[in-house]
Amino acid sequence: MGVSKLKIPKICEHCGKPFEAKTVTTRFCSSTCANKSGRARKQQAKEIEKKQTILEQSANQIAEIQTRPYISISEAVILFGISKDTIRRLIKAGKIPAINLGQRLTRISRVHIESMFTAIDIPQEKPQEEKPVKLQYEQSECYTIGEITEKYGVSPSTVDKTIRKNSIPKRQVGKFVYVPKIMIDKIFGGK
Ligand SMILES: [Zn+2]
Repeated sequence: MGVSKLKIPKICEHCGKPFEAKTVTTRFCSSTCANKSGRARKQQAKEIEKKQTILEQSANQIAEIQTRPYISISEAVILFGISKDTIRRLIKAGKIPAINLGQRLTRISRVHIESMFTAIDIPQEKPQEEKPVKLQYEQSECYTIGEITEKYGVSPSTVDKTIRKNSIPKRQVGKFVYVPKIMIDKIFGGK
C-alpha cells in the first residue's frame, strides 16, 4: 500500500491555517508546527507544575505559621488577609499584644488576632445602642417608669433623673424601660 493520494482538508492545530492533510490523524500543517506545538505543551505543563508548587509552598507556609504563638506582621497579612496598616493600627491601639524584637521585627500574638478576626464580624453589624446594659434582674423584679411614677407619685422626669444620678441599670424592651424594683424601692421608699 503506497502513500494515499487522498487529501483531507484540515485546520492546523498550531497555527490555525487550513491545509491538506495526507492522513486523517494529521494535526499540523508542517513539522515546524508539530514541533512548536509540542514545545508549547511542555511549557504549559511546566507552568502548571510551577503554580502547583507555589500553591503547596504557600499551604505549607500557612500551616507552619499556624503552629507559632507569635507571628510577624507579614505573616498575619497572609493568614488573615488584612492589611499591614490595619494590624499596625490595632497594635497601636493596644488591641493586639505585640513584642518588638528590633526594627522590622515586630511579633504579634497569633491566638489574639485569631480570636479578634473570627469574633469581630458578626456583633459589629448591630448598632452600638442596641447593646443593653447587662441587667441581672428578671422582668418581674423590675418596674417600668410608669409604675414608679404611680407608686411613688413622682414625675417621669424625676424618675429619669434619679435613674441616671444613681447609675441604676436599666433595660429598654420595646417602649418600656425596666429598672430593678429593689433599687427604686430603696431610693423612693426610704424617703
Ligand atoms: Zn501550522
